[in-house]
Amino acid sequence: MTTLICRSCGEADDLAGGAWRCPCGGLFDLAFSPGAPAIRPPGSTTHDAPWSLWRYREVLPFRSDSVIWPSVTLGEGMTPLVALGPGVQVKLDFLMPTLSFKDRGSAVLVAKAAELGVRRLVADSSGNAGTSIAAYAARAGIAADVFVPSHAADQKVRQLRGFGASVHRVSGSRSDVAAAAIDHVDHTASFYASHVYNPLFHHGTKTYVYELYEQLDGRLPDTLVIPAGNGTLLLGASIGIQELLATGRVQRSPRLVVVQAAACAPLAHAWRMRTAQSVAIPDPGTDPRNANPTVAEGIAISAPPRLDQMLDAVCDSGGAVVTVSDEAILTARRDLARLGIDVEPTAAATFAGWRDVAALHPRPPSTSVVVALTGAGLKSPSDKAGHP
Ligand SMILES: *Cc1c(COP(=O)(O)O)cnc(C)c1O
Ligand SMILES: [Zn+2]
Repeated sequence: MTTLICRSCGEADDLAGGAWRCPCGGLFDLAFSPGAPAIRPPGSTTHDAPWSLWRYREVLPFRSDSVIWPSVTLGEGMTPLVALGPGVQVKLDFLMPTLSFKDRGSAVLVAKAAELGVRRLVADSSGNAGTSIAAYAARAGIAADVFVPSHAADQKVRQLRGFGASVHRVSGSRSDVAAAAIDHVDHTASFYASHVYNPLFHHGTKTYVYELYEQLDGRLPDTLVIPAGNGTLLLGASIGIQELLATGRVQRSPRLVVVQAAACAPLAHAWRMRTAQSVAIPDPGTDPRNANPTVAEGIAISAPPRLDQMLDAVCDSGGAVVTVSDEAILTARRDLARLGIDVEPTAAATFAGWRDVAALHPRPPSTSVVVALTGAGLKSPSDKAGHP
């Protein structure tokens, strides 16, 4: 049984029951605390350890004899860590089956859905999450209904259809799209494979941190730089860090430096209020009906449902939230491309945020930083995306 715990009232629920939210309206976390993972020393032969995030399956909520995940995995995870300068590395987390880090969460969430015997699932997103869920649903033989905004790019809709998903275009804001998806879930016997509400997704993205721990020879960097829209990588990273702390694998949390686009920065605002920091964050003035307030579409989420949890994750780590302008994002994208790394603007935002922090607060040379690069350049059209 996979147990969910409501963050608001503390009631437990069984994931198999299909509720995506507590009857009280609260959001679910997963009731799950794994033991210490068997981390293989680098260079050891890995006959028993798949070259994918499933090498950490001891810390994932599956039975050790589960035969489901091998039929759902597309080999996601184990992405390269590349040095860009002394103590600064980027993790190429866009080198994934559908070219974004979302595959970490989707693989785990859809494998669990398959284990529960789900026949139909629903997802809502116009971007990488929808594509990713649709690909894994196809692999698992689960029918997918994906709800997207009416202005979603044709190339994305084509890709969703290519994966065999039924695409539902919804006019209005992103919340309207989510509402249509939830309505469909409520009126059909579908499983809501939400990357925002379903905590299984965060247990997939936490493998980002386990991989770093193994790649860095049993350590974590001093600082992790992470983008945030709905916070799935942020919350996953936070869970992974808490687990490694709880099992004594690490003694101290890395600082989580979280990056948002200046034009849509609810977490930055919340962080500034909580810490009374006077950082210069332009007023977003974001109209939620505006499709793209920023070139960083993947992090343009004006009201993330897990905002409080995201803020706790940043504060618990002693981290910070920074914002970047579209201009800085496009410059960062061009500069990364000049280094041979082509990422989409949403991913370049993270690098831009890191550069601002590094310029303002020079870092002791002995410290280490890892910047997540989350989405591939081919994901976005070149005209509006500042290709060199
Ligand atoms: C989804 C996405 C993000 C942001 O992830 P959240 O879970 O919304 O915080 C960042 N980069 C890329 C490329 C994405 O697809
Ligand atoms: Zn509740």
